[in-house]
Amino acid sequence: MANVFARLRDGLSKSRNQFTAVVGGQAIADEDYLDSLTDALILSDMGAACAEEAMAELRKRAKAQGVKDVPGHQAILKEILVGMLDAPKEPLRWPMVMLVVGVNGVGKTTTIGKLALRFQALGRTIMLCAADTFRAAAAEQLAVWAERARVPLVRHQEGADPAGVVFDAVQSAKANGTHLLIVDTAGRLHNKKNLMDEMEKMRRVIDREFPEAAVRCLLVVDATTGQNGLQQAKAFSQAAGVNSVALTKLDGTAKGGVIFPIVRELKAPVLYVGVGEGIDDLQAFDAKEYVDALFD
Ligand code: GDP
Repeated sequence: MANVFARLRDGLSKSRNQFTAVVGGQAIADEDYLDSLTDALILSDMGAACAEEAMAELRKRAKAQGVKDVPGHQAILKEILVGMLDAPKEPLRWPMVMLVVGVNGVGKTTTIGKLALRFQALGRTIMLCAADTFRAAAAEQLAVWAERARVPLVRHQEGADPAGVVFDAVQSAKANGTHLLIVDTAGRLHNKKNLMDEMEKMRRVIDREFPEAAVRCLLVVDATTGQNGLQQAKAFSQAAGVNSVALTKLDGTAKGGVIFPIVRELKAPVLYVGVGEGIDDLQAFDAKEYVDALFD
């Protein structure tokens, strides 16, 4: 685990360096300092609106508390940022259907594989469902993870109706008393109407056939895509009713700040961060740890 955290810190070192450069040994937080701090936040991929919101709150709290020095400002800013990542988290409840959504290439399949192993290690029974029937490769790739984790996979032919695969998977999960059914979905955003119809149909099948199951819709976002991730979050939240987020590829060139506007937009918590391609490279999200890695 320490290793995974080190990778998160490594991955986010660019943003951290920006932030450290602003501090530059200064003692008093003057206007120049506050301006540079705003810039550093924007450069972290946070976007202007979120950065300005955080800075306005910082000025307000610093004034109220009579804080004038740079370290004092930093401490307050960190508190504010941790608070911005706070979103209501629903407790785990079994059985659960987890619909995993996101555009192709963001790391959906990899995240599903990692999650299967993670929950298995916690003593849960898992089943995977290949509802991305659009690409044959998607089901193939999921099959590799299913084998690796030794969990059953429900799949149909390429081009089959995704809701039909979900129907079969739900019947099978119910019959087997499976705790967690993880559904891989198609990540086509170019036709939002299609995507929306497909999602609605899958949701209807789950609600009708498996009303006792909790439904979690997990949006996977590639952190290296920056503000694009926010656009994806908006689109998928409309189409799929996203209620949780996983942020991947934080071991690469990601700047990491995009998490703030995403949480603000979706009002949904980040549950996991991905820091590599290996099966152990998924970490439960911890806001304080994340803000520390980003800025400290
Ligand atoms: P999908 O199309 O959304 O299912 O994406 P995949 O799971 O196939 O992942 C796309 C690529 O990203 C693969 O090469 C993965 O190994 C890689 N990948 C996924 N998660 C991570 C991560 O956290 N870090 C890194 N470095 N690569 C990742």
